[in-house]
Amino acid sequence: MAKPRVAIFDFACCEGCQLQIINMEEAILDLLNVVQPVEWREAISDHSDEYDIALVEGSITRPEDEERLKDIRRRAKILVALGACATTGGVNKLKNHINSDELKRCVYGAAAAMPHLDTSPTRSLREIVKVDVEVHGCPMSTREFVNVVRCLATGTTPVTPNYPVCVECKMRETICRYEYNEVCLGIITRAGCDAPCPAGGQWCFGCRGLVDDPNVNAANDIMAKYGRTADDLRRRMELFNSTEARPCPRQ
Ligand code: SF4
Ligand code: SF4
Ligand code: SF4
Repeated sequence: MAKPRVAIFDFACCEGCQLQIINMEEAILDLLNVVQPVEWREAISDHSDEYDIALVEGSITRPEDEERLKDIRRRAKILVALGACATTGGVNKLKNHINSDELKRCVYGAAAAMPHLDTSPTRSLREIVKVDVEVHGCPMSTREFVNVVRCLATGTTPVTPNYPVCVECKMRETICRYEYNEVCLGIITRAGCDAPCPAGGQWCFGCRGLVDDPNVNAANDIMAKYGRTADDLRRRMELFNSTEARPCPRQ
């Protein structure tokens, strides 16, 4: 049976998720047993518009990005979003806090009107096209990535955890960050990372996005228990998901 052809594309991002793939080193060779890369700007010189699986990193921040993404979607049988930029808009959504014209003036000054600096509010991939599978995290989890590629290559459906990071925190017997008077997003964030941030002494900042159906009542109970409010959680969510408008910080 022919191996599925895989193409990797990037939009607005730091390309750190692709770098995660390259950093897998020998483990990439195992994946090459089950898929055939035909397009990957960061790693190979081949180009092809014929592929079965599109792995797409980055968020959509310009009008022309939207058309390119739709073209990728048309060509691919399966489209996978790689990393927080692609799955939630990631840190790129910080720009949505500021009016677009104001933002361009703030960043580019007198050059803001130049056409190649055109920009639009940041969107995740699924805000524009159908996304079949999401690999979460900033950077994405390589363990999850390998599992997804293997599942898709063998025609099985990858399963993504749909419970909060707190579960993995408890399994590691990590002391909760709320006990240190901190606000942690693990109570509403999708697990799958093994909760490295709380284990390392840092609250979860929600890089894997929200679980599908966050337990709001439980979150409110925790806020009440530790003398916190829902606004504390919302402020913590600004890094990866906020649409609240605010003035340009440089003014
Ligand atoms: S999710 Fe994080 S690591 Fe991946 S491309 Fe976006 S900013 Fe970079
Ligand atoms: S540290 Fe965060 S993720 Fe861990 S149990 Fe506490 S709230 Fe949940
Ligand atoms: S603990 Fe939270 S911030 Fe850290 S990797 Fe997991 S989801 Fe991301």
